[in-house]
Amino acid sequence: MTARPELALVEGFERALINNRLHMVYQPKVRMRDGALTRVEALVRWDDPEFGRVAPSRFVPLAEKHGLIEELTQWGLRTTLRQWLKWRDEGIDTCIAFNISALSLEQLDFPDLVERMCRALDVPTDRLVLELTESATQPLIKLMDTLTRFRIKGIGLAIDDFGAGYSSLMQLRQLPFTEVKIDRFFVNDAVTSKDSRLIVAAIVDLAHGLGLTVTAEGVETREQLQLLLELHCDVVQGYLISHPLEPDGLVDWKRDFRARWWALIEEERLALWSDVEPNPLG
Ligand code: C2E
Ligand code: CA
Ligand code: CA
Repeated sequence: MTARPELALVEGFERALINNRLHMVYQPKVRMRDGALTRVEALVRWDDPEFGRVAPSRFVPLAEKHGLIEELTQWGLRTTLRQWLKWRDEGIDTCIAFNISALSLEQLDFPDLVERMCRALDVPTDRLVLELTESATQPLIKLMDTLTRFRIKGIGLAIDDFGAGYSSLMQLRQLPFTEVKIDRFFVNDAVTSKDSRLIVAAIVDLAHGLGLTVTAEGVETREQLQLLLELHCDVVQGYLISHPLEPDGLVDWKRDFRARWWALIEEERLALWSDVEPNPLG
């Protein structure tokens, strides 16, 4: 994209942000053990009359580059915390996973700001998990102080897109994370590649040894679910479980999902069983 259209897009984004024309959708994450909803991940959406639907992978980096990320983060977090209160009133007391740009972590007072926002809305800080991705230019180890401050306040920390990119097993030991999210490309690859499967198994083992929760993201097929079940992954997220939902869709989804989960798992168990013990008559 040339400079001009990029600038037009940034201006369009800023207008959408100011005029409250962005919105959040929420993707459920469920526990492998019983299919219970453990968290929802908040994902920002921008549908623009001029530009159409613009993907966050396009406009979040632009917001970072043009000094708008702080405003986006604050708007998103406020919107999501308010939504959490509505769900709680409807009987869903879940945790929220919120994506944070590593750039925001460079501000030392950022953990205080997040805590203040939780306090102002009366949302307990232990209901919030921040998802962070490592990039080449911003190694998370440099942000140790800020990460530790979040943990002291009871806010959870997940390392996102783990296995792809720059994150390493060594960091899991050094940094105060509570959750590891295995990247969806890895989850996908593990079905066909023995090497990937071994690596995923090693990540799960190490993470469990360190007391971390392991989430697999981008789970789209039954085959992937079965493999993750065998590898003792704790939490799954992806289109097989649910696409990201509009806020008022969560209650219905939750009501319908438990039955669907047991049907899904039962078939996986049967498939697993028939692999281990071939039918003697067959
Ligand atoms: P992410 O945090 O890794 O989010 C997961 C992305 O995968 C989301 O795309 C989600 O819609 C998509 N996804 C979920 N399940 C599946 C699946 O089964 N298959 C496939 N193919 N995709 C799946 P989305 O919403 O387009 O977000 C892209 C990225 O933009 C996110 O990646 C995150 O890094 C960033 N992002 C999204 N919302 C926010 C936000 O509010 N703030 C910040 N800073 N970044 C955000
Ligand atoms: Ca994420
Ligand atoms: Ca991810």
